[in-house]
Amino acid sequence: MLRLPPFRLEQPETLQAALELLAAAGPQAVVLAGGTDLLPNMKHELLQPPVVVALSRVPELSSIRQAADGEIVIGAMTPLAAVAASPLVRATLPALAQAASLVAGPQLRRRGTLGGNVLLDTRCQYINQTHFWRSALGFCLKKDGTACHVVAGGSRCVAAASADSAPALMTLGARLEIAGVAGRRQVPIDAFFVADGIRNRKLEPGEILIAIRIPAPAAGHRGAYGKLRERGSIDFPLLGVAARLDLSPAGVCEDADLVLTALAAAPRRVAGVAEALRGVVTTPASGSDWVAALGKVAAMARRQCRPLPNIPGDHEWRSEMVPVYVRRTLQAAVAGEGPVHHV
Ligand SMILES: Cc1cc2nc3c(=O)[nH]c(=O)nc-3n(C[C@H](O)[C@H](O)[C@H](O)COP(=O)(O)OP(=O)(O)OC[C@H]3O[C@@H](n4cnc5c(N)ncnc54)[C@H](O)[C@@H]3O)c2cc1C
Ligand code: SF4
Repeated sequence: MLRLPPFRLEQPETLQAALELLAAAGPQAVVLAGGTDLLPNMKHELLQPPVVVALSRVPELSSIRQAADGEIVIGAMTPLAAVAASPLVRATLPALAQAASLVAGPQLRRRGTLGGNVLLDTRCQYINQTHFWRSALGFCLKKDGTACHVVAGGSRCVAAASADSAPALMTLGARLEIAGVAGRRQVPIDAFFVADGIRNRKLEPGEILIAIRIPAPAAGHRGAYGKLRERGSIDFPLLGVAARLDLSPAGVCEDADLVLTALAAAPRRVAGVAEALRGVVTTPASGSDWVAALGKVAAMARRQCRPLPNIPGDHEWRSEMVPVYVRRTLQAAVAGEGPVHHV
């Protein structure tokens, strides 16, 4: 049985108290949300924080509300199950509701939070292992070692961004509201992730993610999420595809976005999607225009996205699945359907 290393647990009841505790404890202290990623990582000795500050008793961090201007604000501690079941999120942000509904399994979605999902650590088949297993391999760049086992001779960790919600939030233009002892700041989610598998998110020690703010979607907004995984009941993504299309009342595409995850250390936006789809009629009657445009975008995604052997699942098979999941997810978005996955 894997045991947690010793640490001091703090359970503040206000955000201010949590921030002060983190500031006093220093840069090694960590925040505990649902613990479904943090605690396994601690058991694997990927980190040994002396102080763990739990947010579960801070009530103002768990809510979903819509502001007068239509912006949807989701507290960082809102459980994924609540995000997936929210009538507001399902009706207005279908890609996010679908992505949340496919994270892990039911128990983990009730415990795991949206904030913890955005801040999920990167994953790799050579790091999400016990200390004993990793020691047998001589460790790796991400923790305790000097070599990467995915990219021979590589000087940079390429562990995979694996959070299902992140690509959906990127297509939705979300902003992250972050608090520190010095005050609050908002960061566009596009500027939050960096392509560094050792730490792929720009969150400073002592900072707390308090909310995810999503602007009101366009009138003809459509969205969907597609997820390739081994077991439909629980697994992390082998590939995640989030799609957004803004359609005119006649079904003409006015704007579009496509972001993929589980490829490299940061989610990846497919370049040129809006240009390829703008002006295309997406109604069933439009037939070949839409089919041709789908094929073009699927081929673009295939060219731009190269899955690495960083996570389980043959990476060449994952590459072949990129155009398949891109096409299916865009089709599902237009049809108001989804998520795209197998069980
Ligand atoms: C078997 C299994 C399957 C899984 N499958 C999936 C999957 O398919 N897709 C997926 O995306 N995830 C999956 N997960 C990972 C995890 O369950 C989810 O990502 C979950 O949303 C994490 O949220 P949490 O609240 O438990 O985060 P925690 O584990 O509490 O925290 C995760 C990280 O974020 C930090 N953190 C959390 N909240 C805050 C905050 N508000 N401010 C500052 N820092 C914070 C923590 O310090 C930690 O570094 C799986 C986990 C398991 C064990
Ligand atoms: S990508 Fe390389 S350095 Fe990063 S966790 Fe995997 S093996 Fe380690």
